[in-house]
Amino acid sequence: MDLKDKVAIVTGGSRGIGKKTVELFSALGAHVYFTYNSRRDEAAEIAEKTGSVAIQCDQKDKDCILNIVDSTFDKKKRIDILVNNAGITDDQFFAIADITQWYKVLEVNLNGTIYWSKSVCKPMILSGGGAIVNVASVSGLVGIPGQTNYSTSKGAILAFTRSLAAELASKNVRVNSVVPGFIETDMTEKMPRDIKKQNLGKIALKRFGKPEEVAKVIAFLASDDSSYITGQKIVVDGGLTATTIF
Ligand code: NAP
Repeated sequence: MDLKDKVAIVTGGSRGIGKKTVELFSALGAHVYFTYNSRRDEAAEIAEKTGSVAIQCDQKDKDCILNIVDSTFDKKKRIDILVNNAGITDDQFFAIADITQWYKVLEVNLNGTIYWSKSVCKPMILSGGGAIVNVASVSGLVGIPGQTNYSTSKGAILAFTRSLAAELASKNVRVNSVVPGFIETDMTEKMPRDIKKQNLGKIALKRFGKPEEVAKVIAFLASDDSSYITGQKIVVDGGLTATTIF
């Protein structure tokens, strides 16, 4: 895969899947601008190591998102890739969940993805085309107790991907999703041990995935190697959703 001289924006690049994506994109020759929310030191270290640019920007801050897109386009005269990766969980059973927990997850995961995508549309079209890669989740494909908020955000991202792909295809902008299963990051680290064990038993490959295994698929969908793929999803879950549990 080659991303030489591509201008890429990656959201949530300070940890986990986003961090590995920033590292891989940089190694493949892209000019990477990535966001973080709270982990300034981690972000600065990644930027230093990879030659990328770290920018603090909360997914909920529409003005900040638009400013980053505008200033990147002003500086580089193009935007080729957007990876909508930043995301959170806040699990709770629906019947007892506080509704603010619900809105927070929707705001960061779904609305954040929408603000970023809306902001890059015109610059990408003016660049002659581009690729948007949305990071969804198996939780958007199957029901998982305690994750109605997260599932809703990720299922909506999959639907958003398809319709946006249909709208932007004529402008040479491709839009796809990556659908990770259980991946070894801070997000899964906080899962209770017994739940982790239960989930492990359901994965055909009998292990959690590594963030770099997701980053490679993101890079494929962002690169010209996937030039005839749009509106699709690639599931990276070790066989979790493809195999039965019997
Ligand atoms: P992670 O290790 O928890 O990292 C989350 C990243 O998102 C961090 O860079 C964080 O920034 C950023 N972020 C969080 N809230 C933000 C906000 N309000 N504004 C801006 N950035 C924010 O997560 P991960 O496991 O790598 O997950 C990455 C993506 O993959 C998410 O969309 C997640 O839903 C999806 N996913 C993960 C798994 C999994 O098993 N890990 C499975 C399926 C899907 P700070 O470091 O500054 O806080």
